[in-house]
Formats: sequence, structure tokens, C-alpha cells
Amino acid sequence: IPMGSLQDYRKDFDILNSGDYVYFDNAATSQRPRQVLDAVTNFYKTANANPLRGLYDWSVAATDAYENARCTVADFIGAKRAEEIIFTRNTTESLNLVAYSYGLENVHEEDEIVVSVMEHHSNLLPWQMVARKNGAKLVFLEPDEEGIISKEEYESKITDKTKIVAIGHVSNVMGITNPVKEIAEYAHSKGAIVVVDGAQSTPHMPVNVQEIGADFFALSGHKMLAPMGIGALYGRYELLEKMQPFLTGGEMIEYVTRTDATYAEIPHKFEAGTVNAGDAVGLAAAIEYIKNVGFDTIEEQELKLTKKLMEGLAKMPYIKVYGSKDYRKHCGIVTFTMEGVHPHDMSSVLNDDHVCIRAGHHCAQPLMQFIGAGSTARASVYFYNTEEEVDIFLDKLSKVREVMGYGA
Ligand code: PMP
Repeated sequence: IPMGSLQDYRKDFDILNSGDYVYFDNAATSQRPRQVLDAVTNFYKTANANPLRGLYDWSVAATDAYENARCTVADFIGAKRAEEIIFTRNTTESLNLVAYSYGLENVHEEDEIVVSVMEHHSNLLPWQMVARKNGAKLVFLEPDEEGIISKEEYESKITDKTKIVAIGHVSNVMGITNPVKEIAEYAHSKGAIVVVDGAQSTPHMPVNVQEIGADFFALSGHKMLAPMGIGALYGRYELLEKMQPFLTGGEMIEYVTRTDATYAEIPHKFEAGTVNAGDAVGLAAAIEYIKNVGFDTIEEQELKLTKKLMEGLAKMPYIKVYGSKDYRKHCGIVTFTMEGVHPHDMSSVLNDDHVCIRAGHHCAQPLMQFIGAGSTARASVYFYNTEEEVDIFLDKLSKVREVMGYGA
């Protein structure tokens, strides 16, 4: 890309240009460019009516906008057909849909569900629920210190008893990309289906659900430039067709009597109630924006920033970085602790200097237990962040211990 164009993209993010804040909590949620906000506003200004219901122009326009957004998402993650995309609120809702509609029906006593120790709670608690209700067993894939799940590990844990393998594509703590394609291949050879939590991968890398062999794939719009409150679930057509709805009510039926109902075809069977068309349009605009920037550029910039960040942290002897030593394996996510300073204090002190990072357990408490830290700090970058911001972050971080009363 021509020099300076990343700076041009940054100009689209009003909040980033509204003061002197350094925003390094992109793994929690990204910022949104003006084009996405405009697309949402424009929907309400020009095409607002209840989608999928009315037989008049505005409702048809709303339906078209919504269904076009579905096609954009399908194309973005390589789904074979648009009906395989169900709009949800977020990754959490997508994974719950699979757990309730597929898991409860297809996992029985003595069966096993395989997850990893690295899972975000939203890809763990739904499976705990299925296991508890149906008398199945949860089996955990253990990574090594760098966050890597070995072939031996998944081949020993995935067996003929396994019905579901639910695995994060990219860990929101370690930043590591799991070998989901290899895991899916092996799981399929054992007759299990594979659920991939794509919350942290879709913002950063090209994803093709068919290529990785995901039977289900969940994503959140808000982590990839889209509004909060819109997400998606990809499900393989044959599986979705056989599943019972997760929620019932309006918009998802074919015919209703006093005591019974038949359901609409997929995907509408899974989208009960008035849909979030405005934000679906926002998600489509976000995807167009990301495609315009290009994953090559996104990756290149994130690598540059992560390298600088990790090199800077390595110079601070009181800092411990978790996960891989290789900056290329972090997907822009760097989790660390500071000797003698609680991550919450670190984040608060940094906030006084207008530096935003995350502190806590990152909704991954089993992983925290695994790495032996109750709480950690996490800096996570996106393509619109700059090297100057990394310098500011490192400079402010290097002063935190002093502020906390340690000698310089
Ligand atoms: N999985 C992973 C790996 C995540 O990072 C997150 C968000 N932190 C989620 C799931 C849940 O996403 P949401 O809160 O949008 O449902």
C-alpha cells in the first residue's frame, strides 16, 4: 500500500483523534470508523421498517439490506451459502445457540466434549451446561507454556467418545492461533463435530470455514469495527436444518395453531423476533472496510507493533510476558504481569496517562489458573495503532513502579 495510507485510515476513527488517548484494548472491542457509523445511520434514515414482515417499499428495503449483509458475512468467512449464516448478538450468543440446539440434542451420557484450557468463558460455560444436563464429560486440551496444543495432545484427548470439539481459533490471552484445521480433521475422523470460536481471529486474518473444516463458527462484530450487539454464527447447512430453534416466537415460524407450530426455513428459524438489521448493515460495512484495508496490511502493521511492544517489554526485568517468545505468534495480543504491582493498579496508573489496557482474568479463569496468575495485564493492538503509541505505552509503563512506590 502507498505510504501514509494507514494514517489515512486512522483519520476515519473519530474517537482515536479526539484526544491523546492510546487505546490498546482492541481484543476487548475495536473502535469503529465513520463509514460503519454512517452505514448504520443511513439504514435508519432511508430504509427503516420492520424487516421480513412488510409488503411495502421501506420494509422491502430493510429486508434487502439485512439479507445483503448476510451475503457479505457468508462471503467473508467462506460459507457455501448465505443461509448458513445466522445473525446473533455476539459470539457468546452464537455459542449458546449451538450448545442448546445442537449440544443438548446430540450429546448423551458417557459422551465427551473436548475444549481447551484456553477457552474464553463463553466457549466453556455453554459446554459445562450441556455436560451437566446430559451427564457427559468435559475433556481439556492442555497447551504447553507457549500456548501450543500439540498433535499428541489433541490426538490423545479426541476419541471415539468425543461428540463435540469446541476450540478457540485465537486465544484472547495468549494470542496464539490454534491448529484448528488439523484438530478438525482429526475430530471428524473420530465422528465428532467442531465448533470454532472465531471472536479473536476474524478481525485479524482471512478465515475460510470450509477450509478449516468448522461445522460451526462464531464471531462478534464489535471486535472487527462493527457495532456492539451484532454477531454471527456459521453452521453447516445439513446440521442447521436438523436442529431445533434456540429461541421461539415471531419471525421464525411457518404456521401456528393454538397448540403447535411449524418453523421457517433456515436461517430464519434461528432468528426469532425483530432482527438487528441496522447493526447487520454496520457489520457488512465493517467487512467492506476491512477488505479495503486488506489483511496483508493489517497483519504487517500488527506484526510491526507487536515486535516493538515485546522488544520494549523485554527490556523491563520486572515484567513477565506470557505465551510465545515469538512476536509473530501473538496476533497483536500481549499479556503480562509486573513484579509487585497488581494489574488493576497498573491499568489505573496508566489510565492517569491516558493509556488504555485491560487488567483482570480476561474471562479465561481456567487459563489464569493454568499459567499460575490470578490476574494479568493485556495490551492488544489493531491496524490503526501506531509505533508512536507503542513508544508512549512503553514510556508510561516504565514509570508505573515508581508511581507505586518502588525505587526508580
Ligand atoms: N471468545 C473469545 C476468544 C473472546 O475474546 C471473546 C470476547 N472477549 C468472546 C469469545 C466473547 O465475545 P462476546 O463478548 O462478543 O460475546
